Amino acid sequence: MQLLKDRILKDGVVKPGHVLKVDSFLNHQMDIQLINEIGKEFRRRFPSDKITKILTIEASGIGIACIAAQYFNVPVIFAKKAQSINIDGDVYQSKVESFTHKRTYDVILSKRFLNADDHVLIIDDFLANGCALRGLIEIVKQAGATIEGAGIVIEKGFQEGGSMIREQGVHLESLAIVESMTDDGLTFRG
Ligand code: 5GP
Repeated sequence: MQLLKDRILKDGVVKPGHVLKVDSFLNHQMDIQLINEIGKEFRRRFPSDKITKILTIEASGIGIACIAAQYFNVPVIFAKKAQSINIDGDVYQSKVESFTHKRTYDVILSKRFLNADDHVLIIDDFLANGCALRGLIEIVKQAGATIEGAGIVIEKGFQEGGSMIREQGVHLESLAIVESMTDDGLTFRG
């Protein structure tokens, strides 16, 4: 998606440890016009009318998923990061290792909001090593629901998540795939 790539080149900041900061337009301050175009692009890439729910993970996926959901006319559900002591039997649960915070946490979703009849599109801001996406896929599987695909705003193609998820046969669409990034610059795939 050229608009997004141009914006990453203009305002993205490469940080040590393979972290790309896009907090001036995507996940801290949010450029709603841009995210609206992102929502339309997700719809164009996932035209299926079977989708019944959009699933994301708190916190930074939520705003993006909500704007995209207007083009799908379906509810957004988000996995919550939970304290283990709060977990009871009424939730689907998986573990996610945070790339940016280097710690593992449980994520939960109430069983009331996802069941075997659902067709789910997963949306998130970043794909790095794929832990967040794997955790969300695990939750969909626990529900017995169908995964229609996963839409990612920025995939870091030099990390393993993208190839791992594609090998599982999941229809993965990333709107910008970063091929390489250093202090001197950033290149995209395709
Ligand atoms: P993964 O689980 O694929 O390793 O990482 C995905 C999650 O980590 C995303 O939900 C995102 O919040 C965060 N993340 C991973 N890499 C980056 C990055 O380079 N920049 C930012 N801002 N967040 C990242």
